[in-house]
Formats: sequence, C-alpha cells, structure tokens
Amino acid sequence: MPVRDTAAPTLVRPGLWALTLPLPGPPDLVTVYVLETDAGPYLVDAGWDTEDGWRALSRGLAAIGTRVEEVRGVLVSHSHMDHYGLAPRIRASSGAWIALHPLDAAQLSHYRIDPAERLADVLRRAGAPDTAVDRALAGLGKGRGHDAAAPDVLLEDGQRPEVPGWDLTALWTPGHSPGHLCFWEGRQRLLLAGDQVLPHTVVAVHEPEGPQDDPLGGYLESLDRLERLRPTEVLPAHEHRFTDLSGRVGELRAHHSGRVARVAEVLDAGPATAWELAGRVRSRGTLDDLHGFPLHVVVTRTLAQLSHLRRQGLAEEVPGPPPYWAPTGRGVPRSSPDVVGHRPVR
Ligand SMILES: [Zn+2]
Repeated sequence: MPVRDTAAPTLVRPGLWALTLPLPGPPDLVTVYVLETDAGPYLVDAGWDTEDGWRALSRGLAAIGTRVEEVRGVLVSHSHMDHYGLAPRIRASSGAWIALHPLDAAQLSHYRIDPAERLADVLRRAGAPDTAVDRALAGLGKGRGHDAAAPDVLLEDGQRPEVPGWDLTALWTPGHSPGHLCFWEGRQRLLLAGDQVLPHTVVAVHEPEGPQDDPLGGYLESLDRLERLRPTEVLPAHEHRFTDLSGRVGELRAHHSGRVARVAEVLDAGPATAWELAGRVRSRGTLDDLHGFPLHVVVTRTLAQLSHLRRQGLAEEVPGPPPYWAPTGRGVPRSSPDVVGHRPVR
C-alpha cells in the first residue's frame, strides 16, 4: 500500500490551509489549520508530539512557503495530546505563544498521573469491584505520566485572539473536555471546531468533575449554540470538513438522547453501580472484553449519562462504598433507536 503523504497541505480558503499530521492513533490523523498573516503563520491545534508528527508539520509548512520558526501563535482547541502535544516544541523553535482555555490549562496537570492510575480512579468511582480493577490494569505499563508545559495565553469565551487580518473569536464549548474551545471566523463564517463535532464519529465527553457537573448537558448546549451560528463550513480536527452542521447536530442529539434513555431504562430496573450499568447497557451485558483506554471511555460515558439524568432530576447517586445510582421515580425518557455508531476519540 502506498504511504499516504500526510503533509500535503490543502488550501481551504485564501490564506487558510489544512495540514494532516499522523497520530499514534486511533484516530490516526489530526488536522492542523494554518492561518497566514503578514507577521507569520498562526496554527489552530498542533498535533501529537512524535518525530513523525514534527516532520509532517515541518514539511507541510515548507510546502506552503513558511517554516516552524516563523509561527507566531498556536491556538489549541483543548488539552488532549493529539491537539496540544507539539505546541511547546513549536514555541521553543519559534517563540510563538500558546493559547488554551483556563479549564483545559488546569487539565494539563492530569498528564503527570500514570494513565493506569487514572483508569483505576475512574473504575473505583464507578463502583467497580477490586477484581475488575485489577483485571483492567493487568498488562498496562506503569509510570508513563509526563509534564506538559503551560500555555502563555488563557482564552475565555468570547475573547478575540490576536491574529492579524483574521476575525477570530474563541467559543467555549465544554463537553469533550472542560475547557474545549472552537474558533469562529466571522468574515467567512467558518467554524474551526476542534473535537466538538466530527462528521462521522461521536466524540467522548469528559468525566464529571463533581456532583453538580454535567459534561453531556454542557456538550449538547454547546452544539445548540454552534448550530445557531449557521457556519458555511465546519473545519474539524479529525476526519473531513463538512457543511451541514445542523444535520450533524440533529444526528448527535438523537444519538445522545437514545443512549441516555437506555441508561435510564436499565436504571429503572433497580439501583446499581455505574460499573454495573455500563455493562448492562452493552449488548454483551458486561465490560469483561474491554481494557485500557476503550474501557476508560465506556465507564466515563456512563458516568456522564448518569450525571445528565441527575441534573434532570431522574437519578441520584448514593455515596458508597461502593457508590451506586438509583432512579428518583419521576419517570424516565423513552429510548429511541441509535442513529450513529460510537467509537472513542481522544
Ligand atoms: Zn482529538
């Protein structure tokens, strides 16, 4: 099979390029958007910090007549390493600033924690028995946590990053991460969407961070807000560009309401831990076939769905150990058939 040249840049609009960089995956690719200015290029997202990613970025910038050393700023949609990873290295080569939402700047400290430990935390929080935690951790490497360098600019909702000649506004769209940002280009009505909305994949929502937190609700409200902007084109960080945001948002709403209703129905059969419920809503009825990151995503998703039901007054969490969930008896929404599949996206 021919090796795809991930660095070949695509011209999206005059002065706006898309560079596709490889990822250790899945997903296998991330798109970095380049905004040309008289002062030098600005990037939206940076790609994962690997030698392949760095080479693809360098080649891509060279192909459009510039260099990493010329980059003036890196706007990062969120703190996940397929987006933030290369930003500090770009800054070291060029003196560019890095911009991120403050809530995602705070998330960078999570990378100091070994991923196995983070998985164990979320499983225990979901009420998984020790045997299941031990089994899930078996075979996972230890000590892969690392420090991620801090951003220079903290961008809040509505702020306008300094990118000369471009009419950009940061939009806080929490859900996939607590401080996820999209960037709105007002002159051409373009939505630089990060991981907020992809044309095929349903993105994961983050783990609820407290008893009031409802990441799925925040995600759905963010979609409503983006839909109202009526962009001419959506420029996501994975997969491909698309124009029908409203159609895609409709699919995502139906998907999430169907999944939440399914959790509510299973919960209605009686109190259970999030761990048990996560297994019961699957066609296999168990989580025994899952390990590592996919297991983390499935359990986090159930916690987010339960937190969404709690905010609607339909479920409550009873402190443990183990913590478990119970219906409030106020009725559950009826499930609708799934309209789209799911696979995790970092
Ligand atoms: Zn991503």
